[in-house]
Amino acid sequence: MVESGTRWRIGDGSKVKIWYDNWIPTNPGFKALSPRRGIEENAMVNVLIDSESGRWKTDILSEVFNQNEAAQIASIPLSSRLREDKRIWHFEKDGKYSVKSVHHYLKDLRRKEAPGPSSSNNGGVWKKLWKVPIDSKIRNCVWRAGKNILPTRSNLLKKGITLDPTCPFCCSALETPQHIFLDCEFAKRVCFASPLGIRLQPCEDVLDWLELILRSNNTFEIQIQFTALWKIWQARNMLIFQNKRIDLMVIAGDIYDRVAEYNNVFPQAQVRSKREDVRLDATVHAETINIATDAGCFEEGISAMGCVIKKGGENILVAACKKEFIQVSVSMAEALALRWAMKMAKELSLDNIVFFSDAQFVVDYINGCAYSADLEPIVIDCRSFLCNFKSASVLFWNRNCNLETHHMVGVGRNLGNKTWLGVIPSLSDGPSCILHSALLI
Ligand SMILES: [Zn+2]
Repeated sequence: MVESGTRWRIGDGSKVKIWYDNWIPTNPGFKALSPRRGIEENAMVNVLIDSESGRWKTDILSEVFNQNEAAQIASIPLSSRLREDKRIWHFEKDGKYSVKSVHHYLKDLRRKEAPGPSSSNNGGVWKKLWKVPIDSKIRNCVWRAGKNILPTRSNLLKKGITLDPTCPFCCSALETPQHIFLDCEFAKRVCFASPLGIRLQPCEDVLDWLELILRSNNTFEIQIQFTALWKIWQARNMLIFQNKRIDLMVIAGDIYDRVAEYNNVFPQAQVRSKREDVRLDATVHAETINIATDAGCFEEGISAMGCVIKKGGENILVAACKKEFIQVSVSMAEALALRWAMKMAKELSLDNIVFFSDAQFVVDYINGCAYSADLEPIVIDCRSFLCNFKSASVLFWNRNCNLETHHMVGVGRNLGNKTWLGVIPSLSDGPSCILHSALLI
């Protein structure tokens, strides 16, 4: 099954055939177009990747592909944690896509990947469910939904009660637990508006969904998903019994507040409530390290990045720039700039850091409030860097606050990869001003 809008996002390249699969984002049909040479017909993309460094083998690329295509492949960002190859929906420029087609696409894929009934080992599910640190009434609601014993209209109908069995939100389907919590547009919107920007995975039923959710190691995510289910049920009852429609954004906000409140009362749950971190870290700690990043994409297929590291908001520690011959979207360049800055901060053993970027979307995604399949590998890297600092967060700031970093992007475009200590260089500053730190190579 090949849908025209899907392509592979390269992780380690082991699942993707160089000459047959759709994997080059900039090519028509996402297929390799260069004449086949130098590499056997069924070779996988992983032969083009140096698994140790997690980088493209540019020498092989230029041997095998024509110049333009080699450059395009070299522009495909790789995650330093080399995750699995993944089929994704190729996003339109505006980032929008058809939820419905993705839904069907994933459904097919999931069936293929996981043959056989998924409910064969239900025993573990209930045990796991009972361990989730969450309000008992929320857990109870999830449990009843999973067992299909909530009094949904379809269940009441089965018991012989005469009523209108359609979903009160969309009025276009039977109100089953599967529909109201997973398939209904309302449920999807609530989950997507919730703090983690959750996209409901296609599931056979609520139990199937529950198994999937409980496989996650991220307690915060489980709490958010469970609370979303409970809020949907509440909103449904409000609508049916009091004829009150609750605003979607109010519901989404409540989901976060509920979880944050629980985690404040029971801090042993050891959950980072992300937005809270952002707020706390943003307050005035004189000793906070501020790291601002910016990126620019230029016509010649060049992306440049700039980074300024300051202590306490004033003292310049490091100014750095980087130039890469890659053609990527602006969001991708901004995400790569953040990852680069995080790596640098780690190498410099900095901590207690606030990273700033003027790319709202990228910041939102790192903080769990947006999603893009393309950016996912880089954002995962960023999140794993963030977990390794004692205190670190990522904030959006206005472009006007980012002038120094913006300037560093220009310097990078002119001068390539350079690092300065204690000073912001001028556009033309030559080597006399440059202080390479061995740490920063
Ligand atoms: Zn509905």
